[in-house]
Formats: sequence, structure tokens, C-alpha cells
Amino acid sequence: MFCPRCNHEDTKVLETRLGKGNHSIRRRRECLACSHRFSTVEEIIREGLVVVKRNGAREEFNVPKLTSGIRKATDKRPVEMERINLMISEIVEALQNRFEDEVPSSAIGEEIMKQLQSVDQIAYVRYASVYKEFRDIDELAKAIEQLRKGGKSS
Ligand SMILES: [Zn+2]
Repeated sequence: MFCPRCNHEDTKVLETRLGKGNHSIRRRRECLACSHRFSTVEEIIREGLVVVKRNGAREEFNVPKLTSGIRKATDKRPVEMERINLMISEIVEALQNRFEDEVPSSAIGEEIMKQLQSVDQIAYVRYASVYKEFRDIDELAKAIEQLRKGGKSS
């Protein structure tokens, strides 16, 4: 992101918010060179993003499906809908930065876990147990142990 005043490339994000209808992300930024502050609005969904499943099948990137997966994991947890929507926009943005137009389904799972890990650890473990298909309690214990050691990865 270039500063509109001095054209410097590096900016710091001060605040991230969802736009109307959750179709865009609004960011307040500050230029690292001249400290000029400005806002950017980014569209969340790029047209035609395609998910490549493990068996090679392709399907349209589906935000409602992503939402329901996260809602299931955060069911009865103190996670607000607003926070979930923000997570979704962060996930979609990360995927769009990493991939051109085809996204492996495994990458979606990883991004979801990355978000959940910093938002709610119970939800994270719930999601991981489905996504990683833990075979027994040892695998679950290992995942929790990693969570403890890793702490928060900003
Ligand atoms: Zn600047």
C-alpha cells in the first residue's frame, strides 16, 4: 500500500473495520515515512475464486459455508458475530494474497485455525478436531500442548 502523500510503500494499519454489508474492509493506515494518515477500502470477495478439494474437485469459493464452519466451532463461546465476520474477511484476504484464483481447501482450513487460535482456544480445538480428524485423545492432547507452548501469535 503506497502512501498517497509521499508514495512510500510501507504503512502501518491502525484500525481494521468491516464496511457496510460485510462486503468490504476499511483500514485506517499510517505512512511509516511521513506519518500521513489515510483510509483504504478493500473489496472482500474477488470474483471467481475457486476451491480445489483434496480429491481434485473444484467448487466455487463459498462464504456462507466458511461462516457456518466458524459458527459451529464458536457455538456457545463468547465470540461475537462481528468478530466472526472480521475473521472471515481476514481469512479471505489472506487467501487472496496467497493465491491467484485457485485455493486448496487445506489452505482455507489452515487460515481458519490461525484466526481461531488467537480469538478463542476452545473454538480452535473444536475446529481442529474436526479438520484434522484426530484419531484419539493423544492427538488432541498434542494439539492442546502445542497451543500452550505456542501462546499467541499476534
Ligand atoms: Zn508518506
